[in-house]
Amino acid sequence: MKTPTAQLDKGDCLICGRSSSQQLLYILTMINGEQKISCCAHCGISAHLMLKDKVAMALTADFLSAKLHSAQHSFYNMGGVVDHCCKPSILSFDNEKMALRFQKGFGGSVGRFSDALEFLRKDMSMHSTTGCPKCTAKRAAE
Ligand SMILES: [Zn+2]
Ligand SMILES: [Zn+2]
Repeated sequence: MKTPTAQLDKGDCLICGRSSSQQLLYILTMINGEQKISCCAHCGISAHLMLKDKVAMALTADFLSAKLHSAQHSFYNMGGVVDHCCKPSILSFDNEKMALRFQKGFGGSVGRFSDALEFLRKDMSMHSTTGCPKCTAKRAAE
């Protein structure tokens, strides 16, 4: 199996159109083999909610090391104060201890992939004003 590398064409986020940064990158592989980039785990996980079973697998960058690892096996810090990209922020960590340490310093809650899905699903269904303005603008324009 080929290991994905940082040389992958970065391009813009499929959800909000922002350019992605290595530290927050979230890469979705579709069942047809196509790869899609999202700017951060917020958009990556929104994409799972929107595209559902069209997504075969996903990789996400660890927030601290920028190393890619399986999104399904990540730990997520949700709704913390660090929101480099989309809101509410979701940051991914490949290590639970680091996710918990981060939570101590910056708040939010820590959970697994399924928790992050649920967190965003609720956020989207509430149409909350804390939603990401960029993402909402793009969605409204479609
Ligand atoms: Zn995005
Ligand atoms: Zn983002």
